[in-house]
Amino acid sequence: MNTSYILDSPFYVFYKKHYCLQCNQLLDVRKVNKVVNSKSLEAKNFDFACGDSSLYGDVKFFYHMFFCIKCEKYFSIKEVKDNERYLRYSKKFIGSSHSEITKKINNDIIKKKVLSYIITFVVMALIFLFLKDIKFL
Ligand SMILES: [Zn+2]
Repeated sequence: MNTSYILDSPFYVFYKKHYCLQCNQLLDVRKVNKVVNSKSLEAKNFDFACGDSSLYGDVKFFYHMFFCIKCEKYFSIKEVKDNERYLRYSKKFIGSSHSEITKKINNDIIKKKVLSYIITFVVMALIFLFLKDIKFL
């Protein structure tokens, strides 16, 4: 069986403190693994890319999750990130309803995506102009 190691946001996971979504206990980082089939529904949550090609069939993924010793419950990195962002926004916009805060978060995610596309485009354009200038192209 193929195996794949995922190292998602190492700085966020190992150097910052995170707390349980339910009881506020300091969370542990645990190494977990899961066999996912490339044709299954949850395959979209895992990266089957492998260099230039991609993995097929059953793949064993090794990755990290947060674990609360009090609740005996695992949380994904995304869950903890989303929760922390939600708490940040609800502090910033005190008095806003749950749906207003969710809307603000989604709007900001879109804004950041658009901005990163623009930056990528500008950088590519500058590189292109630079290479053209020194007659590489
Ligand atoms: Zn807990």
